[in-house]
Amino acid sequence: MYNETTGLVKTTVLKEYVLVKFSCKCGNIIYDQSDFQSFKAYIVPEQDEEDLLRECSRGEENALDAFYNYSQAIYQCDKCARLILDVGDSFISFKPESKSYPTNLLRSVEGEKWKRQLRGRWTGKKGEVWWGFGVEDEGFIDTFSSKDEVEEMYFKVFKRLKSQNILRDSFLSIENTIVHTWPEE
Ligand SMILES: [Zn+2]
Repeated sequence: MYNETTGLVKTTVLKEYVLVKFSCKCGNIIYDQSDFQSFKAYIVPEQDEEDLLRECSRGEENALDAFYNYSQAIYQCDKCARLILDVGDSFISFKPESKSYPTNLLRSVEGEKWKRQLRGRWTGKKGEVWWGFGVEDEGFIDTFSSKDEVEEMYFKVFKRLKSQNILRDSFLSIENTIVHTWPEE
């Protein structure tokens, strides 16, 4: 949906998740299509803080509904540092007063200690290993030519992240079979 006032485009595709893609006024395209994104946060009005906490205390299932009910998504453009508020059927963006403002204002309060995911996959023709977007220790590698190369890279990264206590969870899939998971179930 194109908004005349803001010049922003909102595209939503309903599948398992709501996928959102829009362009910032600077021209940068922002994709909201996975969890744990470093450039997205949620704003909760102080007027609703107590109500949200009370509903959250009624159980995990309630908590998620309550969280989305009482919050608004906000994004930060990683090119121009604009803050962009999702107001339902459109976006409203706020331009920074200074060009030197950081572009990672919405990332985890844990900073570089944020616990990240690690994934490895080999399908017989190609493979990939990726971990931790939005932090210094991050990566996406898809230039593997064998299963052994994928395994070697996966376990190298696994050991490093685990030893530094910055690993959330991980799994390695070879030919559609999970051959390693952490934490173990
Ligand atoms: Zn921008």
